[in-house]
Amino acid sequence: MKIAIASGKGGTGKTTVSLNLALALSEVQLFDCDVEEPNCNLFLGYELEKVEDVMCSVPVIDPEKCSLCRQCSDFCPSNALAALPTRVLVFPSLCHGCGGCTVLCPEEAIQESQRSLGLIEKSKKGNSPEFYRGLLNIGETMTSAVIKKLQKHIDDRKTAIIDAPPGTACQVIASIGNMDYCVLVTESTPFGFHDLKLAINVVRAIKIPFGVVINRYGLGDSKVEEYCKTEGIPILLKIPNDRRIAELYSRGIPFVREMPEWNEKFLGMVEAIKSQLTGGKVERT
Ligand code: SF4
Ligand code: SF4
Repeated sequence: MKIAIASGKGGTGKTTVSLNLALALSEVQLFDCDVEEPNCNLFLGYELEKVEDVMCSVPVIDPEKCSLCRQCSDFCPSNALAALPTRVLVFPSLCHGCGGCTVLCPEEAIQESQRSLGLIEKSKKGNSPEFYRGLLNIGETMTSAVIKKLQKHIDDRKTAIIDAPPGTACQVIASIGNMDYCVLVTESTPFGFHDLKLAINVVRAIKIPFGVVINRYGLGDSKVEEYCKTEGIPILLKIPNDRRIAELYSRGIPFVREMPEWNEKFLGMVEAIKSQLTGGKVERT
């Protein structure tokens, strides 16, 4: 099963849920898809090794062969080419590497070169959970390409936990688009409630089964719970606004490591997800 952990905004506890869930399970892979600032390994402390570079093909135009026909710039869906009266300009940082311009060019004036976007790293053998993360180069914008490459390492024989980037933009779609289930993490505050509704719109639009985890439960605003009940959205888990959990977090310790009773709760959450996917009853408190 492939489970994405997402949230409408940062700081709701998405990484906390991803880490503690992965640590409660066996035969599991954890993927940090927040490639702009992956932080799972701050808590795991694994020694990581490089798996591969993430590259993108970008066009290089031979001015000797180019007839300035403009077919490439008219086609480019990323506006990475600009045909001027005397030459074609290429903007590599806008190019998504689709290769269309190379195929279209009637003069065979376009060659492709490789541009580095980032890299994929993984934990050394023997660590549980097995951990992978993507790292986007500083200043780079092609997050989705790194996320797609990262998810190629999902082993279908194991449970995959995907720590998605925060928000509702394209990198979130790239992270959760091919998942079996999406857990939306929120907190019981007006801000958390507002952004949860945005995230719900996304998962509904791409038709992924989902449920909600309320983090820092008891902060005072009960709108999230009421909304989920009205909409028939399962609340999979409530993590209380507990000083001990916050202290462990601030020391970089996933709380299932010091509070073993939470292992059962996270395992119960997975059972509730399985039950939901097979059409069973999912209500939990
Ligand atoms: S490879 Fe695709 S995105 Fe890049 S310049 Fe060519 S047409 Fe545009
Ligand atoms: S399609 Fe080829 S020949 Fe036409 S403008 Fe682009 S590079 Fe030049």
